[in-house]
Amino acid sequence: MKNSQSLFERAKKIIPGGVNSPVRAFRSVGGTPFFTAKASGSRLTTVDDKELIDYVCTWGPAIHGHDHPKIREAISDALSKGTSFGTPGPAEVEMAELIVELVPSVEKVRMCNSGTEATMSAIRLARGYTGRDKIIKFAGCYHGHVDSLLVKAGSGALTLGNPDSAGVPASFAAETLVLPYNDLNSVADTLASSSEQVAAIIVEPYPANCGLILPMDGYLEGLRTLCSKYGVVLIFDEVMTGFRLGLGGVQERTGITPDLTALGKIIGGGLPVGAFGGKVEIMDHLSPIGPVYQAGTLSGNPLAMAAGIASLKLLKESPPYDRLESMGRELSSGLKDMAQSRGIPLQVPQVGSMFCLFFCENPVVQFEDSTQAKHENFNAFFNACLKRGLYLPPSSYETCFISAAHQKIDISKTLEIFEDSFSCFC
Ligand SMILES: *Cc1c(COP(=O)(O)O)cnc(C)c1O
Repeated sequence: MKNSQSLFERAKKIIPGGVNSPVRAFRSVGGTPFFTAKASGSRLTTVDDKELIDYVCTWGPAIHGHDHPKIREAISDALSKGTSFGTPGPAEVEMAELIVELVPSVEKVRMCNSGTEATMSAIRLARGYTGRDKIIKFAGCYHGHVDSLLVKAGSGALTLGNPDSAGVPASFAAETLVLPYNDLNSVADTLASSSEQVAAIIVEPYPANCGLILPMDGYLEGLRTLCSKYGVVLIFDEVMTGFRLGLGGVQERTGITPDLTALGKIIGGGLPVGAFGGKVEIMDHLSPIGPVYQAGTLSGNPLAMAAGIASLKLLKESPPYDRLESMGRELSSGLKDMAQSRGIPLQVPQVGSMFCLFFCENPVVQFEDSTQAKHENFNAFFNACLKRGLYLPPSSYETCFISAAHQKIDISKTLEIFEDSFSCFC
């Protein structure tokens, strides 16, 4: 850890907290974050020459693992033609056609540069389209660091949001109503009393930023029905789940159709990209043909489009989802068995290539439940795994990701390391 440590010391002097995104700092699990020198397939190599099996996958994007030859080739071809044009380019059209073809509800799409931009723009569009100001979000769902979405539930029955970060004005937060996830009645009640003020409901259909929470039967259908009834725009934030839980994301998996969808992560193939799309009728409210302004100097950047197109084509040509699902099941059931045989309370929610560890007795249905988990147990387990060559996300509120580059040998090695790491509870 010598090289990582000295880099971190240097970084802390000139980058706040030494990192460019907070969870990378290992604050919740303790210790010094490792710095990565390079990555290939399922493995990271740190600047201290340690090899780690990676279950963070750059926080979701790396569904093909690291440095996939096809993606590298596509970027390199694009690079030879120039890095940015500031005019329309052919790759943007190809990318839009792919997204429209693969994501069921998307009829038109606009590219941007991050998931945060995608959700921010989708919300502005929903407001411009409906002429209403308020939005509903759910506790525990993360939608990027947009002001109006960095809001937590207020106290009491009234659901007006409170800022969840310094620097977010209370007056902005007041435009966001925060309700519990998986509780359809609270949505029905809120819309019954104030639907004429509500522009949109934004939801991570499978919340994956507070650990992993699965929707109860009928919940997403219920949101769809209520939004249709009250003329509220339903936004699925599929920045995480899009192309990870199937080519068409959660909407394909469940057959439930949102009005707008936010995308990011996988569609950039490892470069910075976001996108939002949906019904023509709504999308055509965007500038330059509609009144809702949205723009970006580097939006549709040719390198990012090339990486994204290559990534999506790989998924389309040989969908890895069945294999990912079976690896997900193997790891989650392995973990559950190991914990059970030792009498350690552990929940391992899993869907496809996503799973997480909640050290608690009962299934986590709402964000509140996840706060009851024993985070100190997760932190101990995280560090035990890291020591043995496994990189899990450095917070119990994050989700583990498996990539198509993970092989049988990675999974069996991982199960061995899990088994050994349980010794941290002895
Ligand atoms: C990561 C994420 C975002 C934010 O995307 P960035 O590219 O980090 O801005 C938004 N919503 C969800 C569900 C995410 O997982």
